[in-house]
Amino acid sequence: MKITEHIKRAEGKTLFSVEVIPPTKGTGIEDLYKNIDPLMEFNPPFIDVTTSREEYVYIEKGNGLVERKMTRMRPGTLGICASLMHKYGVDTVPHVLCGGFTKEETEYLLVDCLYLGIDNVLALRGDAMKGQSRFVPTEGGHGHAGDLVGHINDIGRGKYLTDEQRTQEENKFCVGVAGYPEKHIEAPSMAYDLQRLKEKVDAGADYVVTQMFFDNRKFFDFVEQARAMGIQVPIIPGIKPVATKGHLSLLPKTFKIDLPEDLVKAMQEAKDNAAVRQIGIEWAVAQCRELKAYGVPVLHFYSMGKSDNIRKIARELF
Ligand code: FAD
Repeated sequence: MKITEHIKRAEGKTLFSVEVIPPTKGTGIEDLYKNIDPLMEFNPPFIDVTTSREEYVYIEKGNGLVERKMTRMRPGTLGICASLMHKYGVDTVPHVLCGGFTKEETEYLLVDCLYLGIDNVLALRGDAMKGQSRFVPTEGGHGHAGDLVGHINDIGRGKYLTDEQRTQEENKFCVGVAGYPEKHIEAPSMAYDLQRLKEKVDAGADYVVTQMFFDNRKFFDFVEQARAMGIQVPIIPGIKPVATKGHLSLLPKTFKIDLPEDLVKAMQEAKDNAAVRQIGIEWAVAQCRELKAYGVPVLHFYSMGKSDNIRKIARELF
């Protein structure tokens, strides 16, 4: 079922959902299940599965030479989606990237989604490849998420790259796109970034999921500005509980977001990672309570491979 339909059926009640990351090649799916199992009591109507970009690995050849190979360390997004649908009976949302995929490959992936009964996809540009300073579109691929949204909707209408109308049957995906309460790092201003978001919605996106944020004021401002620009689709906040002292530098660096001064101070003063984890739980519970009161349709948690803290947070809220 489409996410917009889940939201409609919830009639104003806030839903719980989670994003998971495919395991690294060779590690099996069991750990992923162990992380998801404890969260099923909160009835997530959908689970997002990320897609990793390709990267270069350097293989020692033993003779002083090094071979460079391109690979994906965490493949299997669609396979995991199918497994989760089968095992838990939930809808899944594969993340579909511009980066690393030609338009043909994207088309084939979306055809697989149709065969698997996947109704929702999150359309993303992807970041620059590791080692590259800026995003370079893949030859024959899309350059911006907005173009990808248009392509996904064409497929839903039965219009393929060869330009033939293959089917009259409407099979429209419910398409999500990313939004940035603290602005995307490459955007020169918030107004510019919101205009780009509006273009994604005008191209046919059905909902927005935000980058993680730790200060609700930024989310509320973002939603107000988006609404003022005419973006009327549901906006789902992304929540990440801080869990280790390492997150103090990792989260801002990786996701280009700010941590509020109070949170940083509390984390710095915490005696160990267990204390930091507890601070992260309490911060997220307070954030989520306020977001629920504001009427957000879904609280979407970034699990990044761990779920014990998300379970504790969800128990306070659902
Ligand atoms: P876009 O919407 O294309 O925007 C990228 C930049 O270009 C922005 O600065 C925007 O203002 C600008 N822009 C947009 N359209 C245009 C245009 N037409 N002309 C000029 N400028 C334009 N990354 C992964 O690799 N895998 C994942 O699974 C993944 N999941 C994510 C899930 C969520 C909820 C979020 C928020 C992010 C996720 N990301 C993921 C990261 C994402 O790929 C990066 O943030 C990426 O840098 C931007 O993606 P986007 O879809 O927002 O790009």
